[in-house]
Amino acid sequence: MRELSRRTAGFTDSVIRRMTRISNEHNAINLSQGFPDFDPPKELLDRLAEVALEGPHQYSVTWGAQNFREALAEKQTRFMGRKVDPDREIVATCGSTEAMMAAMMTVLNPGDKVIVFSPFYENYGADVMLSGAEPIYVPLHPPDFRFLKEDLETAFAQNPKALVLCNPSNPLGKVFTRDELQFIAKLAEEYDVYVITDEVYEHIVYSPHVHTYFAALPGMWERTISCSSLSKTYSVTGWRVGYIIAPPEITETARKVHDFLTVGAAAPLQEALVTALKFKDSYYRDLLEVYDKKRRLFIRGLDEAGIPHTDPQGAYYVMLDISEFGYDSDQEFCEDLAKKAGIGAVPGSSFFSEDVNHLIRLHFAKSEPTLNAALEKLSRIRDIM
Ligand code: GLN
Repeated sequence: MRELSRRTAGFTDSVIRRMTRISNEHNAINLSQGFPDFDPPKELLDRLAEVALEGPHQYSVTWGAQNFREALAEKQTRFMGRKVDPDREIVATCGSTEAMMAAMMTVLNPGDKVIVFSPFYENYGADVMLSGAEPIYVPLHPPDFRFLKEDLETAFAQNPKALVLCNPSNPLGKVFTRDELQFIAKLAEEYDVYVITDEVYEHIVYSPHVHTYFAALPGMWERTISCSSLSKTYSVTGWRVGYIIAPPEITETARKVHDFLTVGAAAPLQEALVTALKFKDSYYRDLLEVYDKKRRLFIRGLDEAGIPHTDPQGAYYVMLDISEFGYDSDQEFCEDLAKKAGIGAVPGSSFFSEDVNHLIRLHFAKSEPTLNAALEKLSRIRDIM
C-alpha cells in the first residue's frame, strides 16, 4: 500500500489521552488528563434536560446559534473589556481544540513558521504540523517561567506568521504579566505577526495574579485570534463547545475552515449553555474559590510529602520534580506510578521541545476526597516507587 499522509508522521498519539487510558487500565486515580470529577452547575443540567425535549436537535447556524453568540458576546464583553460583535466576531467551535486548529488553518500556509513557548500543551505541535507549518520554540525558564527577551526577539526575527499564547498556561499554570504581554505585543506589531491565544483557563487565575486578555491590549485586537472554551469554566469538557473571537476579516475565513471541518458545535448543547453564559459574576468568583481551595490542599500535601513542585498562578496543573527516583524515562515513571501507586500522571517530556525528563504533570480538578486519597498515596511514594 502507498504511504499515508506525511503530515501526520511528525507527531505521536496524544500522550495526555494515552495516560488516561493507562490510568483506567490500572484503576488509578486519574490526575493526568485535566477534567473535573464533579458535576456541572445544576441550573445548566436542568436546562439541558428541558432542551432534550424542546430541541433544537438539528444543525445550528454553522458559526454558532444566534442566541449562543449573543450570550457569549455579552459575557466576553464584560470580562474582556472590549465590545464583541455577536454577528461578525464569533465562531462557535467543537471545543478550543477545534478553535485552535481552525485558527491555525485560517492563518498559516505550508512552510510558515509559528512561535510556541515551551513547555506547551501538546495539541499545538500537532496543529502546527497539520497546517504544514513549522514551530519555533521559545523556552520558559524556571523558577518563574519567564522567557528571555533576546530569545523572543531572535524568534520574531525568523519571520514567523503567528505566535501561540496559552494564558494561563498549561502545563505550567503561568499567568503572563501585563509587561510580558506588552513585550510580545510590541514585537507582534513590529514584525506583523498574528497572535493565536488559548485562554480556556481565563476564569481560573489565583490572586494576586490577574488575567489579561491579549486581544484587549492596545492595538492588538486586529491581529489576535482568541480561542477559548466553555469546558473548564462550566465543567463540561465532554460537551466540546468552544469558540474563536476575532475581527470580521479573520472570522470570515475561520468560519469557512470551521464549516468544512465540523459544520458546527452541537446545537442542543449551545442552547443549554446560553443559561450558563448568563450566570452572574458571583458564579465565576465561586468557581475560583473552589479551585483555589483545591490548589491549596494539593500544594500543602505535596509540601508535606517533600516533593518539589511548581506553584501554579492559574489553571489546575502542577509539575512535580521526579529526579530523585532515578528514572531515565518519565513515561516509564508515569506507567509505574499508575501501576504501583495508583495515580495517573502525564510525563513532562510531552510538553517540552527541549530534552526534559525529570518532570511529571498532575492536575487537581478533583473532589477533595479524591485529592486526599491521591495525596495519601503520594506521601508514601518513596516506599512505593
Ligand atoms: N486540557 C486538558 C489537559 O491538558 C485536557 C486535554 C484534552 O484531552 N482535551 O489535560
